[in-house]
Order: sequence, then structure tokens, then C-alpha cells
Amino acid sequence: RVFNFSAGPGVLPLEVLEKAQKELVEYGTSGMSVMEMSHRSKPYEAIIGETEARLRKLMDIPDNYSVLFLQGGASLQFAMVPLNLFRKSNTADYMETGQFASKALKEAKKFGEVRVVASSKADTYSYIPKITKEDVNPEADYFYICANNTIYGTKFNVFPDTGDVPLVADMSSCILSEKVDVSQFGLIFAGAQKNLGPAGVTLVIIRNDLLGFAKENVPTMLDYKVMVENDSMYNTPPTYGIYMLKLMFEWIEAKGGVEVLEKINREKAALLYDFLDQSKLFKGTAVKEDRSMMNVTFVTGDADLDAKFVKEATAAGFVNLKGHRSVGGMRASIYNAMPVEGIQKLVEFMKKFEAEN
Ligand code: PLP
Repeated sequence: RVFNFSAGPGVLPLEVLEKAQKELVEYGTSGMSVMEMSHRSKPYEAIIGETEARLRKLMDIPDNYSVLFLQGGASLQFAMVPLNLFRKSNTADYMETGQFASKALKEAKKFGEVRVVASSKADTYSYIPKITKEDVNPEADYFYICANNTIYGTKFNVFPDTGDVPLVADMSSCILSEKVDVSQFGLIFAGAQKNLGPAGVTLVIIRNDLLGFAKENVPTMLDYKVMVENDSMYNTPPTYGIYMLKLMFEWIEAKGGVEVLEKINREKAALLYDFLDQSKLFKGTAVKEDRSMMNVTFVTGDADLDAKFVKEATAAGFVNLKGHRSVGGMRASIYNAMPVEGIQKLVEFMKKFEAEN
């Protein structure tokens, strides 16, 4: 297998893929594949139940939060959040820290009033604007952030203190990469395809007092309360994807849990950033204090040389290092499943490329 630095769908642990392969044709003694199971069957209920239980343990999710496994990707949450959380003032605060935050706020504008509290757009989203509690509208129905900005390689290292205003976070590209205090949030969501498993599942963690505010004209499938009341099975859930999440959670548990992953992730990111900081050829694009631990963005400053690097890296077995089409340059996505060895080898390759160019 190659070292896959894809931003999404991202790399999965070999152990997880092999376990899935082993269980592909017959799960346990069920006589069938998970893909063939009725979602209402006992074996499948056990799978989805265990998936949720393992996640609750890994993230220490308090009892007053519900866990949902939905479809439609993180992008559908850009609409579901306002459709469900606009409930009093019909206004929300958004931090514009990247393309996905920008898409989310555009979607929310269709359903209520959106105030952009701060934006780093003018600087190609290379940093996270700093705000204080005074910047938060106390009347807002919620305060929205994108916790890790996949395209620009930045992250919130400190989450804003929003007081009584529920904090909503898109954690698509950082979920389970480090310990977070779930009780700080009103709602967390994440598309699965970076740190959780294959594409097709969207994880939502919602505080229960935020349920039940969807207006009458909100489609049933987009009402969190309906999904909670039906244990994510109002309709057929993405059964196989959820099973893959279970395998992923087992893998994380076997590694020692999120704290251990965080330690490894810090080590991995430091290896790459330390190299970038002393390199005469490569340069990190994100402001140091806001650097992402999952998506490391860098350039040589010369588009032709960037292209040459990506081409030679690909040939050497380091794939998907090309930056997002909107920013160019390079991006190494180093999700939970990327081993330390992958970064060590990449840095060696970058040193060699630097010496030759
Ligand atoms: N939010 C973030 C932070 C992302 O990185 C992405 C995808 O790359 C999305 C949202 C969109 O996710 P999806 O493709 O699941 O809709």
C-alpha cells in the first residue's frame, strides 16, 4: 500500500480493512454479510448499539447528548443546523475561517439572519481570528465554527467561550484526533470519511435540550428529533458504513483511546512542521499558532516546482499531496490512520527533493 495523504476520503488503518475483509462474507455466525442484514434485525441492532456505546466511551459523551448516524455528508448539516437550531431570535453567529464555514453560513442565510463575527477570508484563511466573549451575540440561537479547516490547514486550538449560546462545531476533519470536552458544545457534526471511516455516514452529537425546534415545514428526514426518537433508523441507515465506524472505534480503543492518538498526532504534526520551519525550499502556509494537526499545507513558492514535487512524490509512493484546487501548493493530510512512519518517510523524501532542487 502507498502512503496516502488524501484529505478525504482519507486513509484507513490496514488492521481495520483486514478485519472488514475477514468479516465481509459472513459476520460472526449470522450466515450473512453486514451489508445483507436487515437494519431491524438483532445482529444489526447489536452492531449500531455497540458503535454508539464505543463512541460514547471514547469521547466521554455526557448522558444528556444524543448520538446520530445520518446521511447526506457534512454538507447537509450546513442546512440541518439552522433548520433545527433557529428557535428564538432566528439569528446565528458564524466564524468564517474557510470554504466549508463559508458554505455553511451561506446555507444558514436561507433560513434566518446570519452575522459573520470574524473572517480571515482576506488572508486566504491562513489564520483563525481571535474573538472574546464580548464578540458573541448573547441573543444568537447558536454560534458556529469549523473546528479544523481542511483546505487551509488551520484549527481552533482554543474553542470560543460563547456562554449560554450553544456552540456548534464542524469537526469533519479533526474528530477523535484529540481530546475535546463535548459538554462545551451544543452540537458537533462530522462527515465520516476522514477520521471515522468510509464516506456515507455523518456523525451528529447533539445536546438534548436543542431537540424539538424544527418548524412544521422542515422535512421529516431533516429533523434531529425524529432521528433521535428512531435511534437513527427512521429509514434505512447507512448500515455498512456504521459497521465500519465500529471497527474504527475498536481500533482506536486498542491503541489506547483518544489521548494516545492525540499524543501520536502531535508527534506526527511536529515532525512535519519542524522540517518545514527549517527548510529553505518548503514553507508552511498557515499561521503557526493556528496550525492544523490533521492537514499540513505548504508551498515552495513556485507553482512549477510544486507540481514537480507532487509528481515525484506520487512516483515514490506518497500520494494525494496536491493542495486543494482552490489554493494550490501541497497538503499532507495526516489523519489518525496515518502511521508515524509515513511522516518520517515523507520528510526524508522532502529532504532529498530539497537537496536536488
Ligand atoms: N466540512 C469540512 C471541514 C470538510 O473538510 C468537508 C469535506 O472535505 C466538508 C465539511 C464537506 O463534507 P461532505 O463531503 O461530507 O459533505
